Amino acid sequence: MLNEATQNDAVQSDATPTEVVSDCGCESARAKLYEWLRGELCSEESAPIREHLSNCANCQGEKSVCESLTEVVKRVCEDERADCAPADLRDAILRGLQG
Ligand SMILES: [Zn+2]
Repeated sequence: MLNEATQNDAVQSDATPTEVVSDCGCESARAKLYEWLRGELCSEESAPIREHLSNCANCQGEKSVCESLTEVVKRVCEDERADCAPADLRDAILRGLQG
């Protein structure tokens, strides 16, 4: 009985994964979050970030915010490059100035 108790103690003190999240802390994960989302990190660099995110709910929330921001920025840039509304508007203004 004594043996069982000590074994249980050992298991309990060892198994506290919620306390020890990861070597990569929130700060370093977030510092590289934007770079990672823009695809500027190689898989070696992004691995610890991905690992940290899978353990850290806070950074997961931060990541989805960054993700939607990155998406919006990307879409705006693509729209401008696609020569749609902004170019038409510019032409109209230029014509108005000349005419
Ligand atoms: Zn974190």
